[in-house]
Amino acid sequence: MSPFTRPAGRRGRLSEHARLLECVQGILERSDRAVPWEPDTVGLPDARSDSALARINDVAFYANARDEVAALAGVCVDLLRLHGPAENDEDRCRNCHLDWPCPTFGEISRLLR
Ligand SMILES: [Zn+2]
Repeated sequence: MSPFTRPAGRRGRLSEHARLLECVQGILERSDRAVPWEPDTVGLPDARSDSALARINDVAFYANARDEVAALAGVCVDLLRLHGPAENDEDRCRNCHLDWPCPTFGEISRLLR
């Protein structure tokens, strides 16, 4: 199950915006705390093919995943901080001033499902 569609639980009282922001901030924090991957730290899963090129791709993926996940989560946090309900008018987006929820937030929400 995607962390973005996890049942609300204690988050039931949060708005969709606050729930998504909390979710991506959690991913960012976990990424920052995670030990950087190296072949000796947790090893490599079994290869799916005998291709050396595919294996090199696997190693490159694992070696960069922590930083790349953190970077993508950081982009999501920044976008959600930009596009949220305005403090003085919760019916408008604080950034694009369109009706809330604005189209950008709608697209972010749709993409994170
Ligand atoms: Zn907006």
